This record gives sequence, structure tokens and C-alpha cells, in this order.
Amino acid sequence: MENQQYSLVLRKKQEADTVKKQCKMCGKVTTFTDTTIRRHNANGKNIYQFAIYKCPKNHSWNKKLDIYKSFSEHVDPATLVSTEFKPIEEGEKITLRSEKETFEINISATEGNFRLDRTLADHIEGWSRTKIVQKIKAGKILLNDCLTKPSQKLSVHDKILITVNE
Ligand SMILES: [Zn+2]
Repeated sequence: MENQQYSLVLRKKQEADTVKKQCKMCGKVTTFTDTTIRRHNANGKNIYQFAIYKCPKNHSWNKKLDIYKSFSEHVDPATLVSTEFKPIEEGEKITLRSEKETFEINISATEGNFRLDRTLADHIEGWSRTKIVQKIKAGKILLNDCLTKPSQKLSVHDKILITVNE
């Protein structure tokens, strides 16, 4: 039996975040909107994460979000992400066809509260929430190798294991 592995980032669908601040290019206080684009910059052993905001005239402002240490100066952070995991893009639905395979979805990041049943219905082609609830109850969908409930909230590093056969 083959195991197909996916990774999933759960982001809040919300109105864009805005910040009122002075735009140096416009020379006045204006409203910057979060483009939701994130950038990582390495500086020595530290990796900085920035959110890119734009003013109405399209001038950029980088808001510093996070600083984290790289494991070593010789490790490229990109290589820390396992390549066997296919990322599921935002708004993308995956198709679970083969009955000979199991499907594993790893939660790489979460922003906010996401229910297991709703999240799977949003990302699996042709699977209604009703079908997903039945599969969770039948033990065909496991969370971290355990039986779970449809309303279970997802956390980072959670592993969802899906068996397709009826
Ligand atoms: Zn500006």
C-alpha cells in the first residue's frame, strides 16, 4: 500500500490587514494593506520573516514578523522542508482516486481555528462534509493515528491519515 503525502498551510480567510502609518515616498500618513506576501531574509544565524504591506500608491513597507535561529550556518532553511510532501496550495483541491493508497496530510502551519471536517471538505475534490463526517466516525480518517471527531480543531504538525476504500 502506497502512502501519498501532502502538506497544508491553513490561513484565515479574512479582510486584508491594514496599518495607518507615514509613507516616506508619499510624504504623508496613509493606509498600508497587507499583501499577504511573506519574505524570509537570512542575516547571519538569524532568519527574519517580513510581511509586505503596500500603500495605495503601491509603495512597499516590510513589517518584521518573526526572528528565528537557523539550525546552523551551513543549513539552508529550504532544505529543512521534506520534499516528499506535496504542498496543497490555497484554494486548491486534491483528488483522492486510488483505493490502494492512503493519503496523509500534514498541517505545516495554522492561523486561527480550523475544524477537521470543514478543512477536508475545502481541500478534497468531490468529498462533501457529510461524507467526511461518516469517514471520521468509521475510523477511515485518523488524526495523529487516533480516532477523532469531526469538530476537532487542527494544530500545527497534525497528521491526517485518510483511507479511501469504503
Ligand atoms: Zn506611498
